[in-house]
Amino acid sequence: MNSIAPLHTPMKQFPVSNGELFVGGIPLRQLAARVGRTPFYAYDRALVSRRVEELRSALPTRLKLHYAIKANPMPALVAHMAALIDGVDVASAGELKIALDAGVAPRDISFAGPGKSDNELRQAVAAGILVNIESFREIPPLAASAKELGVPARVAVRVNPDFELKSAGMKMGGGPKPFGVDAAKIPELLRAIAEAGLAFEGFHLFSGSQNLRAGAIAEALRKSFTLITELAADAPVPLKVINLGGGFGIPYFPGEQSLDLTPLGTALTSIVEEAAKAFPQAEIVIELGRYLVGEAGLYVSRIVDRKVSNGEVFLVIDGGLHQHLAASGNFGQVLRKNFPAAIGNRMHALKAEAVTIVGPLCTPLDVLAERMVMARGEPGDLVVIFQSGAYGATASPQAFLGHPPVVEVLV
Ligand SMILES: *Cc1c(COP(=O)(O)O)cnc(C)c1O
Repeated sequence: MNSIAPLHTPMKQFPVSNGELFVGGIPLRQLAARVGRTPFYAYDRALVSRRVEELRSALPTRLKLHYAIKANPMPALVAHMAALIDGVDVASAGELKIALDAGVAPRDISFAGPGKSDNELRQAVAAGILVNIESFREIPPLAASAKELGVPARVAVRVNPDFELKSAGMKMGGGPKPFGVDAAKIPELLRAIAEAGLAFEGFHLFSGSQNLRAGAIAEALRKSFTLITELAADAPVPLKVINLGGGFGIPYFPGEQSLDLTPLGTALTSIVEEAAKAFPQAEIVIELGRYLVGEAGLYVSRIVDRKVSNGEVFLVIDGGLHQHLAASGNFGQVLRKNFPAAIGNRMHALKAEAVTIVGPLCTPLDVLAERMVMARGEPGDLVVIFQSGAYGATASPQAFLGHPPVVEVLV
């Protein structure tokens, strides 16, 4: 019963001085005072920039790097990212607005997702962005908007591949899927696109998310490229874009290690070289969300209470699952596992104890760490949850139990 949770690999991206974490060069308690209240999310812009630089140096220079906004759509962060990357992928008209407001050029924005509404498709055509078609149903409204507005409807085809991404946290391609169009139906889809007069530009494939096995991702990228090469035989015009997806993961749980970029660099270099011959006009794109921003973010809460119940220590914090669903284990996890967490103002404390950290919500689901060993925390101390830069604030049911919305800062 009272077993201790297994340990995480240490989180080293944020410096520690005098036992206190620094975010964007600011000591955590000072940052909390600056923000003015807890809980909050803090994203470190230098860490985001560094991550993009590291990726660029590991991957071929001609490869285009896109940011998938749904991982973290905070406008200031998207604006910061816009200066670092080659394009942005949006999954709704709301995200499209954020990308355009951030100054991303329409030619560098693509729009994927099932169930795009007719109005969203019309907005996309009016904006001049690339729509990744996921269904035959999207063709008539796209054609109608292009005609009405007198501008081309730029489209790519999202393919549901005939293989799955091995060991992905979330599989989004292969077998029966709501995403994309089955590879077998692509020739027919391409004919319908040509007949409707849409401006076809290429292919998009995204087979899954949160994968930590570089070999499996490299294999999926290779298979995706091979499949697109086959499908391109039916394309009405030379390809301008080949978007191979991504799915690069970050370590969240005990035993997980950072992704090894070397095999990905090797695989992508050979793909980019082959594409230069077979599709000389095409840009090769990967689109990443979590990998670009996840490790640069912290969720910071204050300890409200310290309780002991039948021998077990509970730290009750002012943050919870309503603001960080993923850390509570209720966002796609099968078995609840702890995110890395610490007392951010007691990083060097000698006295450690196993604690369970719970949020303020009146539900047994509101657990953010279970029997984790950390410094002894007292009311007023700041609990940090690492790896919180992606799928945090906007992927959580913030209205649940009526607490105020979480603050987000880019530091
Ligand atoms: C969610 C999503 C992404 C981003 O996935 P990450 O795992 O955050 O990198 C990229 N492309 C598409 C089509 C998506 O749906």
